[in-house]
Amino acid sequence: MRNWEIVLRGGRVIDPESGLDAVADVAIEGDRIAAVMPRPAAAAETGSQRAGQAPGGVADIDVSGLVVAPGFIDLHSHVNGIAGLRLQAFDGVTTALELEAGVSPVASGYALAAAEGRPVNYGFATSWALARMEAVAGIELDGSLGTFLTHIGSPAWQRAATPGQMTAIRDRLAADLADGALGIGILVGYAPQSSPGEYLQVAELAAEAGVPTFTHARDLIEMVPDASIDGAQEIVRAAGETGAQMHYCHVNSTSQRHVDRVLGLVGRAQAAGARVSTEAYPYGCGMTGIGAAFLAPERLGERGLTPDSLTYAATGERVGTVQRLRELRETDPGGLVIIRLLDEEDPRDLGLLIRALTFPGAIVASDAMPLTWAGPAPDPMSWPLPATAVTHPRTAGTFCRALRMLAGQGGPLGLTEVLRRCSLHPAMLLAERVPAMAGKGRIQPGCDADLIVFDPARVSDQSTYARSTRPSVGMTHVLVNGTFVVRNEELVADALPGRPVRAAPL
Ligand SMILES: [Zn+2]
Repeated sequence: MRNWEIVLRGGRVIDPESGLDAVADVAIEGDRIAAVMPRPAAAAETGSQRAGQAPGGVADIDVSGLVVAPGFIDLHSHVNGIAGLRLQAFDGVTTALELEAGVSPVASGYALAAAEGRPVNYGFATSWALARMEAVAGIELDGSLGTFLTHIGSPAWQRAATPGQMTAIRDRLAADLADGALGIGILVGYAPQSSPGEYLQVAELAAEAGVPTFTHARDLIEMVPDASIDGAQEIVRAAGETGAQMHYCHVNSTSQRHVDRVLGLVGRAQAAGARVSTEAYPYGCGMTGIGAAFLAPERLGERGLTPDSLTYAATGERVGTVQRLRELRETDPGGLVIIRLLDEEDPRDLGLLIRALTFPGAIVASDAMPLTWAGPAPDPMSWPLPATAVTHPRTAGTFCRALRMLAGQGGPLGLTEVLRRCSLHPAMLLAERVPAMAGKGRIQPGCDADLIVFDPARVSDQSTYARSTRPSVGMTHVLVNGTFVVRNEELVADALPGRPVRAAPL
C-alpha cells in the first residue's frame, strides 16, 4: 500500500488514447499520475473497500459522479496574462499555446511568461508575421503579440519581400526554432501581398526542422477572385510539396460559408497522405485587431460584412459607419473588434460550424484573445475579474461550449471523442519534436498530472458576447503538474504551477 499525495477517488476516468472509460481511482505523486486503479463494479459501492485501496492520501478526494479526463491542450491561445489564462483554466485548459500568431524572439516570450508566472503550461511558436515586420519594415520586436497588434494595419510590413529580406525572415525563424519554438505561426491572411513562394519557403523550413506550421489562411478565391492563390489551396499545396505538417487554424472563421468546399479539399489531401490538420472554435463571430487588412472598408464586402457587422470590444460600440471604421483603424489599429461572420441562430450557419467541429480528426482550439480593459488594468492577480474586462467569449468558453454542443444531449459526438479532440489530438500533433507531449493528453501511470474533473451534467460555458469574461461552470477541479489551480470550482489564488513547453534541441 502506498500513501499517495492526492487520490481522486471513484470518478469516471476517460483516457482518450486507450479508450478506458471506467470508474477508477487516480493517484498523483508530485507532478505525475502514479496509478490508475479501475474498481471492480461492486467495490465502487462500499466505503470500506475505497479506503482500503489507497489509504491515507494527503488529499483524498471523492469525485464519484464526475468525469476525470486529461486537461485540454489549447493550440491557439493569444492570451498573454494570468487573468485570461485563469479563465481558460476554468474552461478545462491546462496547457495554452500561442502557435498561430507565435511570438518572436521566442526566448523573450518564454522569459516574460516565466517572470510573471502562469497558472497553466505555456509555449510558443515562432512568428512569421513578426519576423517579417522586423525584416521588411524595420520594426523592433519584444517577444510579445502586442507588437503585431500595434502594427497590424501598417502596409510597410505587408509588401513583397526582397531576396535579402527573405533571408532575414528565414534566419529569424531558424534562430527561434533553435531556441525551442514549437513550430512556425504563419498569419499569411494578414499580409495578402506576400508571395505564395515565400509561404512555401517558410513551410520548407518547418519541414527541415520537423515542426508543424500554423496558418491563418489567405483569402479564399470565392472572396477575392483575383487573389494570387486560394487560401485553402495554398495550405494543402505546401503540405504536398514540402512534406511539412500544415495545421489549418480556425477553419470555421476563415472559410465562413465556404467551409464545405475547404473541408472537402482538406479531406482529399489527407486521404492522399498529405499532413494537413484542422481546428475550429464553436462560435459564429471572429475577433481581431480593427486594422487588419481584410477589415478595410472597401474590402468588407468580400466577406459579406458591413461596418455594422463590427463591434469595438473595448466599449461595446457597434462601429456602424465607414467613417467610424476609418477613424478607429487610424487611431487604434490593434483595438479588438467582434466580427459577425456566421449567425449562430441560423440553423444553416450553425450546421457549417458543427461540420467544421466534427470533421474527422479536427481539433478544438479557442483562438482565445487577450483581455481588453475598459479603464486601467487591475493587479494581474486580482480575482474575480472586474466587469471592465472584455474579450471574445471564446476565451473563457470554447472548451465547455464544445463539450455542451458536441457531447451533450443529442450532440453529434460522444464524450470520449470530444475529449480526444481537446487533449490527445493536439498532443499528438506536436509530439514529433516536443517530448513533453508524450505525457499529455492521456491518463496513464507516468503521464503528467494535468487533469480535469468535471460534472458532465452541468459543464457549460457562461461567457457571451455581452458578458465575455464569465468563467465556465462545472469544472470541479483542475490540476496542472499535480497542483490544484481550480478546486471545488474556486480559483486557488496563488497557484502558478504552469511550466514552459518547448521543442527538443535541433
Ligand atoms: Zn487567426
